Amino acid sequence: MPADKRNPKLAVWKFASCDGCQLSLLDCEDELLAIAGAVEIANFPEASRAIVKAPYDLSLVEGSITTPHDEQRIHQVRKVSKVLVTIGACATAGGIQALRNFKDVHDFVSIVYASPDYISTLKNSTPIDEHVFVDFELRGCPISKQQLLEVVSAFLNGRKPNIPTYSLCVDCKRKGVACVMVAQGTPCMGPVTQTGCGVLCPSYNRGCYGCFGPMENPDTRALSEWWTKLGVKDEDIIRSLRTFNAHAEEFRKESIKYEASGA
Ligand code: SF4
Ligand code: SF4
Repeated sequence: MPADKRNPKLAVWKFASCDGCQLSLLDCEDELLAIAGAVEIANFPEASRAIVKAPYDLSLVEGSITTPHDEQRIHQVRKVSKVLVTIGACATAGGIQALRNFKDVHDFVSIVYASPDYISTLKNSTPIDEHVFVDFELRGCPISKQQLLEVVSAFLNGRKPNIPTYSLCVDCKRKGVACVMVAQGTPCMGPVTQTGCGVLCPSYNRGCYGCFGPMENPDTRALSEWWTKLGVKDEDIIRSLRTFNAHAEEFRKESIKYEASGA
């Protein structure tokens, strides 16, 4: 705790997103009381209308940058935040809205909105770290509440968060979950996806679709080749790389390479 004995001030910010990651914080239930006792919730519109003035000790940022206004606002948020942590696939990889990055966004705008002239949007949806310095990124769509608690706890204790960056497959083995790809021939993104969800999908006999984004140094080419052997069509491989984390560098590059190779 700082020398003046006040609790650190926590702020939560929203950009282009569905609010699901912020709800993970509210979903902490029992733990929320402990968090509320250890920090001052200074700016969190989902939880309270009261706003305590900046600066903030810890900012959690949800959502991607999709408008000129967002592009300016994130710099203001960075300026008033000592530590800035991005939460979720939108903030760390542009989110599902980054699918626009592979097309002309104006084609969508003219179809979706009755008066497209009033829409002010950027060509791409981009993660926060393409605009400002980010101290730590928390993955997932939505994030895991246990990982969020670990990040807040690490911040309060002045240590580095203990968040693994290895693949989901490692945790399938640890939990004794039978591999859906080996046992059933079900395509699974687990070999290239960062763990953190508790092996949710394979535990229910279905393949992972990569909502936690790329693990550290993923071999996406090997995965594509494996999926081809399982009979997955080229367009479905591209589609699987372009979901919630379509703009994440490793998934983006592999999907572009795959598309360029004539898939
Ligand atoms: S089920 Fe998926 S995540 Fe689990 S071991 Fe198999 S390939 Fe890896
Ligand atoms: S198994 Fe994959 S898709 Fe399912 S929750 Fe975990 S990371 Fe997300």
